[in-house]
Amino acid sequence: MDISVVIPLRDEEESLPELADWISRVMKAHNFSYEIIFIDDGSTDNSWRVIEELRSRDANIKGIKFQRNYGKSAGLNEGFRAAGGDVVITMDADLQDNPDEIPELRRLILEDGFDLVSGWKKKRYDNTLTKNIPSKFYNATTRWMSGIKLHDFNCGLKAYRRNVAKSIEVYGEMHRYTPVLAKWSGYKKIGEKVVTHQARKYGKSKFGISRFINGPLDLASIMFVGKYGKRPMHFFGLLGSLFFLLGIGLSVYLIIKKIIDPASTLTDKPGFYIALTTTIIGVQLFLSGFIGELISRNAPGRNSYLIEKKTGF
Ligand code: UDP
Ligand code: MG
Repeated sequence: MDISVVIPLRDEEESLPELADWISRVMKAHNFSYEIIFIDDGSTDNSWRVIEELRSRDANIKGIKFQRNYGKSAGLNEGFRAAGGDVVITMDADLQDNPDEIPELRRLILEDGFDLVSGWKKKRYDNTLTKNIPSKFYNATTRWMSGIKLHDFNCGLKAYRRNVAKSIEVYGEMHRYTPVLAKWSGYKKIGEKVVTHQARKYGKSKFGISRFINGPLDLASIMFVGKYGKRPMHFFGLLGSLFFLLGIGLSVYLIIKKIIDPASTLTDKPGFYIALTTTIIGVQLFLSGFIGELISRNAPGRNSYLIEKKTGF
């Protein structure tokens, strides 16, 4: 199969028929073999009935239904597991992303050899105050922390080489960081394409201002897990040693001072309390490192490497 289109959705009943028609039109015009996978993320409107209805008319359309709302990331993840195409395209269900971009995205993956191509909504049709300005800041932070030079991480329209979609696990609120997940999995050829963007036609946005609180936290954990997930001691041990040595050094200094001048009091000086707390914090960090190691050594998949080619066996 040439293309899988993965579409997570929640309460988007009005948009679905139009979107399915539009995608089918594009696919047929290019003679692609394709599937459209709708993932109903616990909708409370008629979305699932609409999907069943579309499916009954067109066998290229498939549906997955969550029993309750799990979030866009979970939707993408299930879509990736189910996808059978050589190229996997993700898009939002609200008609903000343009299906006409699909052929060029596919070309970039198959001919130009990109592992992942992200859409870039250069001209956006969203609320300026709550979305456009914070997202500039958010994109700059993500670029800086991840080292991936993309302008628009949060674009719903993205294309993945099959292997990439199959090897990343999107959980929590990580759907904004799939390029970072891909990079950690070893897929480094990540590009972008300017895409046209429309204003939301039906329904309303499902993410409020909370995205700018949760987003940075998710980025921090993704960076941490990617870097130290398999060797937590290198993080906690280093930090713990620094604190511990600082505490011990200060204590030794205070003890020597007391020996030289027995009449002086220690407990009324800040140094005394700093020495105590830094020693304790140091030990705590060290112990966290050990616990982290225990967890990561015993975790299922601790030896799961991504191997694409093996010869001589
Ligand atoms: N979505 C989802 N689960 C959720 C929230 C949103 O599957 O819990 C879908 C939503 O239906 C849409 C896409 O994720 O297809 C992007 O959501 P939205 O358009 O609300 O985000 P925005 O464009 O405002 O960033
Ligand atoms: Mg939208």
